[in-house]
Amino acid sequence: MTVTRFAPSPTGYMHIGNLRTALYSYLIGKHDGGKFILRIEDTDRERLVEGATDVIKSTLNMTGLLWDEGPDVGGDHGPYVQSERKEIYMEYAKKLVEMGHAYYCFCTKERLEKLHEEDAMGGYDRHCRNLSKEEVEANLAAGIPFVIRQKMPTEGVTSYHDEVFGDISMNNEELQDQILMKADGYPTYNFCHVIDDHLMGVTHVVRGSEYLTSTPKYVLLYDAYGWERPTYVHLPLLMGKDAEGNISKLSKRHGAVSFQDLVADGYLPEAIINYISLLGWCPKGGEQEFFTLDELKEAFTIDGVSKSPSVFDFEKLLWFNGEYIHKLEDERFTELIAPFIKVEIPENINKTRMLALLKTRIAKLSEINERMAFFITLPEYEKELFLNKKNKIADFEIVKTVLTEAKAILTDVQSFDNDTLFASLMPIAEKLSIKTGTLMWCIRIAVSGLTATPGGATEIMEVIGKEESLKRIDLALEKLI
Ligand code: GLU
Repeated sequence: MTVTRFAPSPTGYMHIGNLRTALYSYLIGKHDGGKFILRIEDTDRERLVEGATDVIKSTLNMTGLLWDEGPDVGGDHGPYVQSERKEIYMEYAKKLVEMGHAYYCFCTKERLEKLHEEDAMGGYDRHCRNLSKEEVEANLAAGIPFVIRQKMPTEGVTSYHDEVFGDISMNNEELQDQILMKADGYPTYNFCHVIDDHLMGVTHVVRGSEYLTSTPKYVLLYDAYGWERPTYVHLPLLMGKDAEGNISKLSKRHGAVSFQDLVADGYLPEAIINYISLLGWCPKGGEQEFFTLDELKEAFTIDGVSKSPSVFDFEKLLWFNGEYIHKLEDERFTELIAPFIKVEIPENINKTRMLALLKTRIAKLSEINERMAFFITLPEYEKELFLNKKNKIADFEIVKTVLTEAKAILTDVQSFDNDTLFASLMPIAEKLSIKTGTLMWCIRIAVSGLTATPGGATEIMEVIGKEESLKRIDLALEKLI
């Protein structure tokens, strides 16, 4: 059975790149009915950010990337928070020492700093690599603080296969004797993720390509323990484009790059998921762009993952989001838009009709206030707005006539719904021998103060109601005198 995991470090917000890693890992796990594990990698105590684990969990919950094992849900391989597994790592580190693939290092901070000063790139000089058993035991008995380092082979080559990037090799002489257990008793990421992936039965390690070149060190650990290596799936870099068109690693300077920021700006989780699924993966034979999570599970295979960097395109995400919003049920839209509405909606407004009109015309939920403003307050406008070549309105006389006729009719209309309004106003066009377009243009400008509006004249009047419509027409007539 395929077992994948998402193993974030709770160091802040949920970067879109991390979410993509979670998604791909989830999809690879789920494609053939496998398991997806959530593991919190919190052993770098200095980088911890309070609340970050909750952000991770709520993001996965909101996007539907539900984990089969992990915090809150449990499982057979817990605990799933690394800081709660310290003893396990120490036990395995000691085992590795016994097996001759790791060693205690008692070098002081001062000594290491001096080494670094002398040669910043030189790394650790393996001073403690060949301490005798007696020296080690004496030091341990004396309570001298220690770290445990991996004993790297000094010659030869270490290779592994990555499903996306192919075969990766590294000359062993380039490998540092990296620290596995720190002086504070916590393991390093380099060590504990290997132990956990093995103990948790992870078959596919899916993560960002920044780990591509350190993976030789990890496969050496698997080999040292005699464990089967997992399948590696490193994901392509995620890039962003700045205003000048320059491309670099996706970061804050490119815009909102955290899931939370995007949601707060009115992007729908399902649109975000759909869009990022395509950032580094291409469906087979496919032109298909829209996928639900279930469809992604079905369609996602590793051979569709590309190794070339993908560029996050905010315009494209906005387009996706708009498409998702437009397809929402009215009721769901009303529910989702509610927290974004920052103004009091006056009594006269038919909110249901207004939201139905706006739903298909916004690309993100936060646009709502700007888009509905004219329904609530008539914008300032100049009477020249009425003049319009296409509708053959070259002077204000015709506008005045249309509005005067409209006013008379509207005053008597009982039911102020779109169909009734339209049917009641149509005779004016015939009477004045003008086109419907010309008639409706005049009324629409009067009731909206805008040349481009969501919905036509009668739809707008249905939203703002009789009294307000007549008030706006009166105001237009005053302007035209
Ligand atoms: N904790 C690591 C990170 O957040 C996980 C890397 C991995 O998936 O192995 O980058």
